[in-house]
Amino acid sequence: MEIDLGFAEKSDDAAWLSNRYFPSKLGGQPAWLELEVLPTTSQLQCSKCQAPKSFLVQLYAPFEDEFNFHRSIYVFLCRNPDCQEPQSAGNFTVLRSQLPQKNKFFSEEEPSDVGDPLPAISCLKKLCAACGCHAPHACSKCKAIHYCSAEHQRAHWPQHKPNCGASAGPTSKPLTHIVFPEFEIVMDTNPIESGKDDKDDEARLAEFQELEASGQTGDLSNVPEAEMDKYFGNTATADDKTFRQFKKQTAAEPDQIVRYKRGGQPLWIANTAQTVEDQLKELPNCTHCGGARQLEFQIMPQTLTLLEDENLDWGVLAVYTCAKSCAIEGYVEELLIKQDIVAEEQS
Ligand SMILES: [Zn+2]
Ligand SMILES: [Zn+2]
Ligand SMILES: [Zn+2]
Ligand SMILES: [Zn+2]
Repeated sequence: MEIDLGFAEKSDDAAWLSNRYFPSKLGGQPAWLELEVLPTTSQLQCSKCQAPKSFLVQLYAPFEDEFNFHRSIYVFLCRNPDCQEPQSAGNFTVLRSQLPQKNKFFSEEEPSDVGDPLPAISCLKKLCAACGCHAPHACSKCKAIHYCSAEHQRAHWPQHKPNCGASAGPTSKPLTHIVFPEFEIVMDTNPIESGKDDKDDEARLAEFQELEASGQTGDLSNVPEAEMDKYFGNTATADDKTFRQFKKQTAAEPDQIVRYKRGGQPLWIANTAQTVEDQLKELPNCTHCGGARQLEFQIMPQTLTLLEDENLDWGVLAVYTCAKSCAIEGYVEELLIKQDIVAEEQS
């Protein structure tokens, strides 16, 4: 099974991360693909605290067919500490959008990466000055700037106040409690994966025993699964085994923040089999075509180190999307399963 790994890179010019360049990115404001039928404010509102969700990640992931020539998956979440629940993705929203090559927003030509970046392709809807989502409300004083919600208007007011009514204010600084630090996600389509290679287990075990005999085992990421208990103790619980497997699998590329594996299995971080299986069993089919969903990618816990928000925590965020990526207009909701490393009560 082919896997692509995504790494966060600070972009020297954020303008390269605008929708014109079909980016994959973490943080900043969303780079919208479909520019007319944006997700509604209520679609991006936390069902628990009613606050607007923050944009986390978008991946540009086209399929081979004509109506998926451009395709982006977006992940949003509510950052309110009260809305973070272990093993529950109730505060997340995943959206899918796609466009054919011939569409009314973007040129059919591939965008050039030579010279300076060009401005973003404008949305046909007003965008929130704070978060970059659809903004149905205007500043009641100057009417020149727009907001998704009263909450974001209030948050943005200290910045906007000195410029309210001025013809062109300075570009605003991102509000860090609404917008995460921005990074490009660069995909490596041919990653080195430790704990996984072409050799079968038997060959690896033989090789390992040879190394062991010569006292050269050193790097534990090379320890075959069959030999693990010897090194980590056989009293380890099943939980630890899953976690070891997770660490071993990611050891060669510890900075990976995304694992893209369409139709594959997620790399779980803990053996919370019951909670995850319960969530998977109830995995609803695509709300648009009724077809089955499949794993598309997972967001890794390493991402947390870049977000500068200590209220957030997760082990694995596994994103499931319509396997056919059926033809849609605008943005349809897809699903996410959140797995945390927490001790589960034995039932
Ligand atoms: Zn909330
Ligand atoms: Zn907003
Ligand atoms: Zn104003
Ligand atoms: Zn579908």
